[in-house]
Amino acid sequence: MSKLRLEGKVAIITGAASGIGEATARLFVEHGAFVVVADIQDELGDQVVSSIGKEKASYKHCDVSVEKQVEETVAFTIEKYGSLDIVYSNAGMGGSFSSILDFSLEDFNKIMATNVSGAALMIKHAARAMLDRRIRGSIICTASVAAVQAGFAPHCYTASKHAVVGLVQSACSELGAYGIRVNCVSPSGVGTPLACDIAKVSSKHVEQYTAKMSLLKGIILKAKHIADAALFLASDDSVYLNGHNLVVDGGFTVAASSFP
Ligand code: NAD
Repeated sequence: MSKLRLEGKVAIITGAASGIGEATARLFVEHGAFVVVADIQDELGDQVVSSIGKEKASYKHCDVSVEKQVEETVAFTIEKYGSLDIVYSNAGMGGSFSSILDFSLEDFNKIMATNVSGAALMIKHAARAMLDRRIRGSIICTASVAAVQAGFAPHCYTASKHAVVGLVQSACSELGAYGIRVNCVSPSGVGTPLACDIAKVSSKHVEQYTAKMSLLKGIILKAKHIADAALFLASDDSVYLNGHNLVVDGGFTVAASSFP
């Protein structure tokens, strides 16, 4: 296997100013890709790009729930790097626990706009750009174990991540005909700001929270493990995977569903 698995490829990663997206941006660049870090946290995004190196990465402000900004991010990428081979639609929001009897429609719609509409808009504009240029691209979304196992994340978040898996499966059947693959990766708990938000714990305690979901003795899931999965889905190593939900949870969902 070649050491550089994405040599010369051009990628957009949303939600790349932090957490899983940031780790993936670093890994993709290590593997030879040019990366557009797309996020709404401009200062953090600029810092990520500076530490990666401006010759290989650029920052673009992009609120994924705003179609014009998604379209502009795709146009910016093509103009700057001349191609678009990979899109990792990873931006997401956690949301708060509440009873289904008492949820806020405003909060629900906000989560859906980022987690679901944002992913749909990225797929739409990325696929248009790939089709126009006859690029056999790879599109990846971040879903979650909440899309496989309900009951431990907020209702709105759980619903949104089920929708992401449905969207990926639906889009893959249309885009596969053009050689564009669409897959998703479903992590269990990773100690990021989003996990702090869901669990209502501080960054100091988030590792204890995520450790509770680990079945693999001595291993706590890190953003880098998810980046490795995204790299696999982005590269030609997964050339026959389409519509797949790659669950990266150390067996958490399988074991949870086999409990009496
Ligand atoms: P994170 O908080 O570190 O990163 C999320 C990023 O998304 C942030 O940089 C944020 O600014 C960005 N973002 C939020 N709304 C946006 C918008 N409208 N437009 C553009 N960017 C936006 O969290 P993370 O854990 O790295 O989350 C990445 C993805 O992983 C999310 O989709 C999340 O749902 C998913 N996920 C996380 C976990 C976990 O335990 N951390 C588990 C399963 C799935």
